[in-house]
Amino acid sequence: MKKCFHVLTKTLALLFFMIGWTHSVAAQTEQKWKSKDRNRPAPAAVDPGMPGTETSTGRAPSDAIVLFDGKDLAQWTQKDGSPAKWKVVDGYFEVVPKTKDIITKQPFGDMQLHVEFREPAPPVGEDQDRGNSGVIIMGLYEIQVLDSYQSKTYPDGQVGAVYGQYPPLVNVSRPPGQWQTYDIIFHAPRFDASGKLLRPAHVTVLQNGVLVQDNVEIHGPTATGKPYEAHAAKLPLELQDHNHPVRFRNIWVRELTDTE
Ligand code: MG
Repeated sequence: MKKCFHVLTKTLALLFFMIGWTHSVAAQTEQKWKSKDRNRPAPAAVDPGMPGTETSTGRAPSDAIVLFDGKDLAQWTQKDGSPAKWKVVDGYFEVVPKTKDIITKQPFGDMQLHVEFREPAPPVGEDQDRGNSGVIIMGLYEIQVLDSYQSKTYPDGQVGAVYGQYPPLVNVSRPPGQWQTYDIIFHAPRFDASGKLLRPAHVTVLQNGVLVQDNVEIHGPTATGKPYEAHAAKLPLELQDHNHPVRFRNIWVRELTDTE
């Protein structure tokens, strides 16, 4: 009886293996391109550009939408549509306190975003009142900009945080006065026709080349703490005026194609 059971188990295992095998072969033949197919279209060649350093301003990849090229704020406006009031200096621009946030003229959804920022030196203030600004994706989802170099605040409010939701994995702040980079991969939330949330927004953030947010699921708009409300697939990118003269430069976006 025991032997009979053993044979049955083996037969069933073999049967399941064969079903699995035929299924995977079928799945492979359904693919448009075979593995190692030389007829498959080659990816476009892109000049990768160069992040900025302390002595050079950097250059965007050749297929990127350049949002600041060091010269003017032509790609930006105040929220009321009037010209951006922040100050353009030599290759960078700077928050002019109390002039309010600026937004891009062009709206963006899924994207790769590169931003370089520099905290005021010498530092002024403490906690949230120290080099505060923000990269507010779609005007709703803020990646905090703050001087968190040897300066404490609540963890989900420091630099690299998805504001009020996720502290960065590590604090890779450079000292104030040195240029820092953000490389952000953002996937916008999806809503159905009735406005129901199908999928929340997701974000990955590297600060100074180090991973600080690993594809986290954003809970909703970061400023309000409220649940998602249906919005357009693309909305302007916003930079925050938090009354501190934070500098920005070399800002570019590569829009991501929806492959779903
Ligand atoms: Mg902020």
